[in-house]
Amino acid sequence: LEVDTPGFDTRALQALDSAHYLHPFTDHGALRERGARVMVRGDGVYLWDSEGRKLIDGMSGLWCVNVGYGRASMTAAVARQMDTLPFYNSFFNTTNVPAVMLAAQLVQHAPPGFRHVFFTGSGSEANDTIVRMVWRYWQIMGQPQRQAIISRHNAYHGSTVAGASLGGMAGMHAQGALPIPGIHHIGQPSFAEHGRGMSEAEFGLRAAGWLEEKILELGPENVAAFIGEPVQGAGGVIIPPPTYWPEIQRICDKYGVLLVSDEVICGFGRLGTWFGCQLMGARPDLIAFAKGVSSGYVPLGGVLVGARVAHALVEKGGDFNHGFTYSGHPVACAAALENLRIMVDEGLVERVALETGPHLKAAFGSLATHPLVGHAESMGMTAGLNLVRRKAASMHDCEAFPPGLGVGMVCRAHMFDNGVIMRAVGDRMIVAPPLVMTTAQIDEMVERIRFCLDLTL
Ligand code: PLP
Repeated sequence: LEVDTPGFDTRALQALDSAHYLHPFTDHGALRERGARVMVRGDGVYLWDSEGRKLIDGMSGLWCVNVGYGRASMTAAVARQMDTLPFYNSFFNTTNVPAVMLAAQLVQHAPPGFRHVFFTGSGSEANDTIVRMVWRYWQIMGQPQRQAIISRHNAYHGSTVAGASLGGMAGMHAQGALPIPGIHHIGQPSFAEHGRGMSEAEFGLRAAGWLEEKILELGPENVAAFIGEPVQGAGGVIIPPPTYWPEIQRICDKYGVLLVSDEVICGFGRLGTWFGCQLMGARPDLIAFAKGVSSGYVPLGGVLVGARVAHALVEKGGDFNHGFTYSGHPVACAAALENLRIMVDEGLVERVALETGPHLKAAFGSLATHPLVGHAESMGMTAGLNLVRRKAASMHDCEAFPPGLGVGMVCRAHMFDNGVIMRAVGDRMIVAPPLVMTTAQIDEMVERIRFCLDLTL
């Protein structure tokens, strides 16, 4: 473990932090005991904390720093835009140059049929926008009773009221009156969890069938949309069988239900395509994006609006009474334009598809032989493995650790202490490294993970 000594007073920072800063998704009582890790610097795929510890970032920050840390051209692009025009809104018949240019570029990378973009400040706001757009669409189409939106258990779609409602996180729903009325959930396409006794292909069709059952239960005339992440990220990198998304598409087509792909994680190359739906064989009507669009350097999100919805909104809808002060923020859009330039010039999407994605699959897949690992899988530049008490030939026969033992958290702490950032979702350990991670750095990350699995045994 590499350590250098920058001049930060970690204890003082931790004391101020726990005195004043309420963190997202954090037990502050526990954090006060432990003290937060203070991150101070990043370069490429590496981070340094205030104690001088060097860490390889297996999570791209929070699934977002796809082009890596410390990109001087990003800093320059942002500084230039701040000097020129740090802010102007896009309300009341105004626009700004970076927002126009970015919208025009994004549709070049989007699947066919996408000609329009609505900008937001985050992924949660993108999904809130989608809820309002979907409802407005059906109003314009003369079917205002179509209000039901179907999502999936264990999905993550954000932390606003609508985002948390669309999401299927039981822990979030339990802390308030969520989900809001009109939002319904079906099972997630997790072969490991629900696929016992079936082939993967059969399970994919079965899991998609839950959507049809839900549509029929609610009445097809009442169902507005289905939303899903191509690969469920925060839920634990749940990779659906190849039969799942084409069947979801068929069902949505059959009942005229809008299909929404939440690409906040899967968009911008994570799976080796610009958008995950392109790999999955789905043709969504709406795409939510954020994170990778600006590699997290400046907050930005948005909605790519396909022809069906755009036609109604633009040609028939009049005012759409929705928007954010920071919709089309010129500095965020300038950062995204530079981010896209880097992605194209360095061929990052192709690299994931042809080089780093397959390398991660092989390297990470080798962890499946570890005695603590039930099964491991990956797609593009994201991967997950299950920690189990007892291994078995089939993933369905592995014995899980008792709930609440916190083996995943123990493992995550070992990782941090040994220079690798990996996330624990219960006892599932996941990674989503920056897309610029080289094959040698993937090997370094995986070897550190293997070492920490040994420590967790
Ligand atoms: N949708 C997905 C799939 C996400 O993973 C996230 C965040 O992790 C969001 C939406 C919410 O995005 P944000 O945190 O930018 O609001």
